[in-house]
Amino acid sequence: MSADRPGAAGVVVVGGGQAGFSVVSALRAGGYDGPVTVFTDEPHLPYQRPPLSKKAHTEPDDLRVSLVPESFYGERDIELRLGDDVVALDTAARTVHTRAGLSVSYAHLVLATGARNRPLPVPGADLAGVHAVRSLDDALAVGRALTTARDVVVIGGGFIGLELAQVARSRGARVTVVELADRLLGRAVSPQVAQHLRQRHEESGVTVRTGTAVRAIEGTDRVRQVVTSAGTLPADLVVYGIGAVPRDELARDAGLAVDDGVLVDEQLRSVTDPRVSAVGDCARNPHPHAPGLVRLESVQNATDQGALVGRRLAGQPAAAYGNLPWFWSDQGAVKLQIAGLREPSDDVRLVAGDAPGRLAAYAFRGGRLVAVETLDWPAEHLAARRLLERETPVLADELTDTTLGGLARSRRAAEVRA
Ligand SMILES: Cc1cc2nc3c(=O)[nH]c(=O)nc-3n(C[C@H](O)[C@H](O)[C@H](O)COP(=O)(O)OP(=O)(O)OC[C@H]3O[C@@H](n4cnc5c(N)ncnc54)[C@H](O)[C@@H]3O)c2cc1C
Repeated sequence: MSADRPGAAGVVVVGGGQAGFSVVSALRAGGYDGPVTVFTDEPHLPYQRPPLSKKAHTEPDDLRVSLVPESFYGERDIELRLGDDVVALDTAARTVHTRAGLSVSYAHLVLATGARNRPLPVPGADLAGVHAVRSLDDALAVGRALTTARDVVVIGGGFIGLELAQVARSRGARVTVVELADRLLGRAVSPQVAQHLRQRHEESGVTVRTGTAVRAIEGTDRVRQVVTSAGTLPADLVVYGIGAVPRDELARDAGLAVDDGVLVDEQLRSVTDPRVSAVGDCARNPHPHAPGLVRLESVQNATDQGALVGRRLAGQPAAAYGNLPWFWSDQGAVKLQIAGLREPSDDVRLVAGDAPGRLAAYAFRGGRLVAVETLDWPAEHLAARRLLERETPVLADELTDTTLGGLARSRRAAEVRA
């Protein structure tokens, strides 16, 4: 039995989120008929997280976010163990141990443990009324708090913080976003697009304070105010989103190589133990679109990595992982979409679309298009994905008087003529 042929001894997946779900779906779709067990510490069926920060949810029924109904797992003979986390991994004995006291052996183990919110390192972060959103239960807590909150302080101007700022605005609250860096969205988008987004948030009534540090959160029984380097802000609800850290402690404690994520090779196997793979937010892997190793936090990455490992373990031909990264974030009425991976040193060219608010930022490296950020321009995003997925590069010169949509159309027409 090879590391990639789990056979009758079975596959154990730790983590029932986007990536874990993708692994087990691809395993069964690929014809694997050995035992498959998924452990997840949450009490819910595997679900999608993006809706959690894009709307105020007050009732569990608002959140129909399960990836598939429960019957999906039964019909495919996938053993889904909800509410039981794996607390130890013995790679020599190829066994996982769970909090509930189970010990389960595997022929291949997949770590799909995701990430957790980076804790807020200020006094008062544990007061009532201070929240972060990662799980379905977090989203319900924030949604309920928003029914009465008047003054909301969002700490962190990243994707999740900005989405939640708009959710709070839509409920009529006064909203201030406090960001330590001198601009929103740090390295995630170009400074040009970050500036446009800031303007859109300010136009919607959100106050944005960049270059501002939070010193403390104060209150007696619950939050009352946030003390910052630029003054004190009244607050009856604080939501923070200051990044995430991979849940790689199980791997580290078992002696697998980790470095801000489980280190895996181009086929997503642990570099220490070929009988272990890691996928999604918890994995750090080589990628043809980036120098060095990357750890990406996106639905696309979790889904595609899970599918690759599931197919590989089902005995299908294994390729190196290299799918084009793409991402979206809905910030109130504004849709931000990203295709490719931009580096801070890339040249960025802004292009206005043919309707108000539509904008694209093309990022070039050495004269070649490597990434595209769009605001409210889904057609341009899709054209970017199609073009960036192809081997033929898009050169800066080809975009002097046309958009990516235009270039894609003229390339298609040329193909038809040929
Ligand atoms: C609020 C929010 C909004 C987002 N919006 C977007 C978006 O708009 N677009 C986008 O592309 N991405 C978005 N993302 C990111 C995206 O949801 C994640 O990248 C994706 O869910 C990662 O999938 P995963 O399976 O790696 O991790 P997760 O989906 O987090 O699943 C990991 C699961 O493993 C469980 N687990 C961890 N350790 C153990 C253990 N030891 N034993 C058992 N179970 C364990 C966790 O509890 C969790 O249920 C968002 C994320 C959040 C939190």
